[in-house]
Amino acid sequence: MTEMMNQYLGIKSAYQDHILFYRLGDFYEMFFEDAKTASKVLGLTLTGRDCGEPERAPMCGVPYHSAEGYIGELIQNGYKVAICEQMEEPGAGKGPVRREVVRVVTPGTVIESDFLPDSRNNYLAAIYFGDLTIGVCFADLSTGKVRATYFAGIGAEEDLLSELATIGPIEIITNVDLAKQAVLQSFVQERGILSTGKLKSYFDETAAAEWYTEIAGGYGQDQQSFQPAIYACGAAFGYFADMQKSDLSHFEDIAFYENTQYLEMDTSTRRNLEIMETMLDKEKKGSLLGVLDKTNTSMGRRLLRSFLEHPLRDVKKIVTRQRSVAELVSNHILREEIRHLLSSVLDMERILTRIVYGTGSARELRALAQSIEVLPQIKTLLQAAESSQLAAIWESIDSLTDVYDLLSTAIKEEPPFLVREGDMIRDGYDAQVDELRSIKNHAEDYIQKLEEKEREETGIKNLRIGVNRVFGYYIEVTRSYSDRVPAHYIRKQTLTNCERYISEELKELESTILGAEDKLKNLEYQLFCEIRDIVIQNASRIRKSGAAVAELDVYGGLAQVAARNQYVCPEVDYSDVLMIKDGRHPVVEQFVRDSYFVPNDVELDTDQNRLMLITGPNMAGKSTYMRQTALIVLMAQIGSFVPAAEARVGVVDRLFTRVGASDDLASGQSTFMLEMREVASILQHATKKSLIIYDEIGRGTSTFDGMSIARAVLEYTAGKKLGAKTLFATHYHELTELEGQIPGVVNYNVAVKKRGDDLTFLRKIVRGPVDESYGIEVAKLAGVPQEIVNHAKEILAALEKKEETGRSHSAVKTQKPDADPMEAAAISILDACRDSVCESIRKTDLNTLTPIEAMNLIFEWKKAIE
Ligand code: ADP
Repeated sequence: MTEMMNQYLGIKSAYQDHILFYRLGDFYEMFFEDAKTASKVLGLTLTGRDCGEPERAPMCGVPYHSAEGYIGELIQNGYKVAICEQMEEPGAGKGPVRREVVRVVTPGTVIESDFLPDSRNNYLAAIYFGDLTIGVCFADLSTGKVRATYFAGIGAEEDLLSELATIGPIEIITNVDLAKQAVLQSFVQERGILSTGKLKSYFDETAAAEWYTEIAGGYGQDQQSFQPAIYACGAAFGYFADMQKSDLSHFEDIAFYENTQYLEMDTSTRRNLEIMETMLDKEKKGSLLGVLDKTNTSMGRRLLRSFLEHPLRDVKKIVTRQRSVAELVSNHILREEIRHLLSSVLDMERILTRIVYGTGSARELRALAQSIEVLPQIKTLLQAAESSQLAAIWESIDSLTDVYDLLSTAIKEEPPFLVREGDMIRDGYDAQVDELRSIKNHAEDYIQKLEEKEREETGIKNLRIGVNRVFGYYIEVTRSYSDRVPAHYIRKQTLTNCERYISEELKELESTILGAEDKLKNLEYQLFCEIRDIVIQNASRIRKSGAAVAELDVYGGLAQVAARNQYVCPEVDYSDVLMIKDGRHPVVEQFVRDSYFVPNDVELDTDQNRLMLITGPNMAGKSTYMRQTALIVLMAQIGSFVPAAEARVGVVDRLFTRVGASDDLASGQSTFMLEMREVASILQHATKKSLIIYDEIGRGTSTFDGMSIARAVLEYTAGKKLGAKTLFATHYHELTELEGQIPGVVNYNVAVKKRGDDLTFLRKIVRGPVDESYGIEVAKLAGVPQEIVNHAKEILAALEKKEETGRSHSAVKTQKPDADPMEAAAISILDACRDSVCESIRKTDLNTLTPIEAMNLIFEWKKAIE
């Protein structure tokens, strides 16, 4: 092996499961398996390099200045990249240039903006499995935000998964062997999260506690119970430190939480309610977030998301948020002005992180300047704010005028990407820069003057002074004037038609000009570093202002939504009441803009109105109604206004939605088992303070089974043991008998108007059970052929008669008169189709039929039969 290859292999041995970017001059090279993988993923040409062995080593490379994009692509494809740099100038020592890995990039340790989701945090989850507890820390290196919690007792693992699903980390590290944690393993595989298990050293309790203490400066008595969470944080810090090889001082925002502080929702509830994304397309548009997100900054967008991840239970905190929103709703001039100013604020948190880690360029400094420029104006606007939280935001926002003045006087408006190429520092900021720049800028003049002088002295009219990269400046004389060239010219290059020379004077001028350029570049870089250091010294102030701006942005956005959509401020308290007057579905109402969205009331408590039993035909609006109720509660608990005329929301501890099996078809999990598992989980976790939504449970099994289960669940939910506020939609009309029998159960239905066979959905929730199921009418509405609709009616009439008389039917005209009526129904639909096909064949005149028409006819028949 060559010396260089030996060095490469030595470094690579410490980074076995990484792609090693090995710096060779202007390139990062990859070798062997890394080269094969990278060439495939990045579409690079695979070449080879002599390595001292008979066979050449497979190799591919990328230019160092465009490495960022390639690294990002590898990360997004689930690889980890180790970046190995040259630590000295070539030729400085004996042997190969000293090289070291200076940074390791994984999905959870990226800080380059191109590879970070703009509207969400990029969390690494560190999971510490202790003997009895699980600690988990979500740490976002790009913003310095850390959230940590722990789970204990039965169901700890389930809670962990639910939290992981809620937060959605991009990378997971843990102390256990993932192969032995089947549930976690399948969770990460399903979502394609890069996960590394058995990381014992980071999770070593002593080491992790030390890391935590180093970053957070120790922990107090009240944090003792968070010990497992502290280990998880320590492990995350240790991991980051190893990956970044740089200090982690920007982790200032560390918060511990317990899920009981928040409105808890399991994964399927979050999915069903389409809080962050729609169920089908996974799009933000059409979700609650899609409606509520009127923020103007990335920081606000991320904060709003975290509000929705963790709605509150604490009334005081909710009311504090409400008051800020309320003030911005009523003072619309203030709102408009603030929103306008916020729209020029960039992602200060992430920009700052890149500056702190030394990967930020002068462009980042400029972007920071742009963001903080408006802070004094925002502060002035907030000065008169009445609500306590807006006043607190006013207090937290630092005008940062000193930082802004520095940046705006020092850094050019549009500096280049690279920091060693100059052109970053403004004129007038530094006298030496100005002087060097003037020399550089006047180079042309100096050269021109010299050119004129030489022409005069030599009498060579077409003598010219040129410059190229290899030879620098030169005097060019065409062949025809060779005899006039003075003796002090030194020949440098001979071309076909001319000779190129250099003179002492030109050499001196050249060194002044080029020297000025080099000096200028170095000086500008030095100044850039000084300015950057000043910014870093002020990082805390900048970060604090960023956080305050994010909060203001969220309130401004919520106020905007509330004002635009005529929301009201709900009364939030610790009562057991849920009262909504003229409530609307925040998302559906946006989509039925042309037709009118019918508002509906809700009246629930834990006494006489515990369970609303809702019947009504399919498509009447039951699901919409129930979901809107859940969403209104959720919105109220994040501090938002709600789509209603009036609302009172007694805070809820947990929110459950169980949607009938067939509604899950989209996710490919339409099993009755899954449905029952979810019901079981609700029954285990719900309390009197919870809000439960059951949408047609029991639909996934036979009628009697289904109805029995639905009834038993209903009785338990409304009964003394649980007594939670519940919305229960069902197509088992028999259940409506329970009103009056079970305290708290109240019948409701979604009103419809029937005229003849025609059905109009009124979308209004009214008291009482539905009188009919209207299934046949809905079938007609959906376009089922009249013939079949008529036949269905006959079957229904016969079935009803059978029920009344208890006798076997005889009135249904089917081809198999003594078949079971259900079977008969199925068969006779087919028959009806066949009849229509036969009829059509009978009518067809073969003598006039063209081949194309024949094909079309066959197509129609086949469609009818299928
Ligand atoms: P169900 O659950 O009873 O089958 P859905 O709740 O799915 O019915 O509602 C069916 C459709 O009716 C919805 O997609 C929506 O467009 C419309 N809809 C529901 N409720 C309303 C309402 N209150 N006002 C206007 N349109 C509504």
